[in-house]
Amino acid sequence: MDCIFCKIIAGEIPSAKVYEDDDILAFKDINPIAPVHVIVIPKTHIASMDEIRPENSAAVAKIFEKIPEIARLAGCENGYRVVSNCGADGGQTVPHLHFHLLGGMALPWDVFAK
Ligand code: AMP
Ligand code: ZN
Repeated sequence: MDCIFCKIIAGEIPSAKVYEDDDILAFKDINPIAPVHVIVIPKTHIASMDEIRPENSAAVAKIFEKIPEIARLAGCENGYRVVSNCGADGGQTVPHLHFHLLGGMALPWDVFAK
């Protein structure tokens, strides 16, 4: 499958791994927008938040069960933020479900304020 994150899972594209187990991979974002910027993905290909179903949601639950540990491993000491961009309006650029784990600074909330 021509999916960049599936290729990272397969080891065909290198990544700076933060955490890995049978179901989940977490690696540093190649273009970080915060001091801590980790991408957390299920190893099964799910295209986006919009494709989460009862049949595949166990992978999503596993990600959220592990996020506190991944955040600690990544160096978040004062909290963090988890974001998933979905579809065109959400700004999704890679069509494999992923969660951005952001931290290492006090993150502004009003990023869209005009
Ligand atoms: P999104 O725009 O929400 O789909 O997020 C995709 C993210 O993947 C972006 O923040 C990219 O910087 C990141 N990204 C794309 N290719 C790679 C890669 N090869 N290694 C690490 N992060 C990547
Ligand atoms: Zn994929």
